Amino acid sequence: MSSWPEGGTRSVEQHAAAVAELVRPTGTETVPLAGASDRVLAGDLTAGLALPPFDNSAMDGYAVRAAELAGASDTHPVELPVAADIPAGRTDVPPLAPGTVARIMTGAPVPAGADAVVPVERTDGGTGRVRISAQPQPGAFVRRAGEDAAAGAVVLTAGTVLGAPQIGLAAAVGRPGLTVHRRPHVLVLSTGSELVAPGEELAPGQIYESNGTMLAVAVREAGATAEQLSFVPDDVDRFRAVLAERAGDGVDLVLTSGGVSAGAYEVVKDAMLGHGVAFGKVAMQPGGPQGCGRLELGGTSVAVVTLPGNPVSSLVSFEVFVRPALRAAMGRPDPGRPVVTARLDGALTSVPGRRQFRRGILDAVAGTVAEVGSTGSHLIAALARADCLIDIPAETTAVADGERVSIVLLGG
Ligand code: AMP
Ligand code: MG
Repeated sequence: MSSWPEGGTRSVEQHAAAVAELVRPTGTETVPLAGASDRVLAGDLTAGLALPPFDNSAMDGYAVRAAELAGASDTHPVELPVAADIPAGRTDVPPLAPGTVARIMTGAPVPAGADAVVPVERTDGGTGRVRISAQPQPGAFVRRAGEDAAAGAVVLTAGTVLGAPQIGLAAAVGRPGLTVHRRPHVLVLSTGSELVAPGEELAPGQIYESNGTMLAVAVREAGATAEQLSFVPDDVDRFRAVLAERAGDGVDLVLTSGGVSAGAYEVVKDAMLGHGVAFGKVAMQPGGPQGCGRLELGGTSVAVVTLPGNPVSSLVSFEVFVRPALRAAMGRPDPGRPVVTARLDGALTSVPGRRQFRRGILDAVAGTVAEVGSTGSHLIAALARADCLIDIPAETTAVADGERVSIVLLGG
């Protein structure tokens, strides 16, 4: 979808679909387990061995034949010779001869012939001979081979998001690494002749550049990788030169900010219009002016999403269009943020014809959400206090105090 519909306005869904189509699914790569956290498993993981791999003891104690301890109790202990000592890790475990027991530690292989373990606490702890004061059930305190997973079983399915337990499991079945979806790589490039890097002196009329860092962090928080390029002034040639130099192989998406609205000096629009990128309005607020497409660069092309420059517009547009697309491309089963409903604390009005994403603070205990700041898309301090977006449908013009609204949880 490279053009804008007749009349010049896309719905949020139309633009989201256009962006999603641009960011292609990434390939796969094999990473060491330690680097697999929060990655998405690319294929089913099959256990190459049973878990546990062998029958082993669940307690420190004595491996026994349960039948030989019939009637054993505190008042009538049974005494038997200790024929072997089996610490964890012993690999040459002898079978248990009838009429004997083996001292055994947690995790050690249960010898052939034994069918139960008596915890040391129910014995006198003897090493040559031992007095046992309990009659175990057959199978007591024996962890059976394969009771957790059978050899050959699928233990993790493709699409699983890997966390500590899943990575621990992969190690337990002997895998040194896992094949996961590659993270998309995103170039972030801000534009604006008024911009100055934080830490430097501001002259009158200048502001600090905030979108580049904010978007690069948002990209990384989404699970992709980001390279933040030095922002460029509103100069089409400089902007083109930076893209020509940097937007090459290995870049899945170029994300720009600024320079896409209807004024003069719209550097992004001026540089890209007619070169594969379409610009127009999306029926939303903040974030009306948008663009996306495959920018032709020499003999190749690169996916580009052009976000508006106002910081709130930039981040909200990233949330609505870019984050889900990046996460879908890397196989995340949960590309979108969690959406819940809450009762609005206060009333609000909304312009018709545009879907609004107001910044809100959720009181999860009370089940209410309050707007923070107002509709101004420059209000980054209010954005920084918000923990959710209040999603007001395009056709809604007013929401009453206490009415239920849909909210997008930014933390989830
Ligand atoms: P633009 O979309 O370029 O017309 O910019 C819209 C508003 O956002 C202007 O007030 C800009 O100064 C501001 N702005 C644009 N880019 C950035 C940026 N990278 N950091 C902070 N503010 C910006
Ligand atoms: Mg600008």
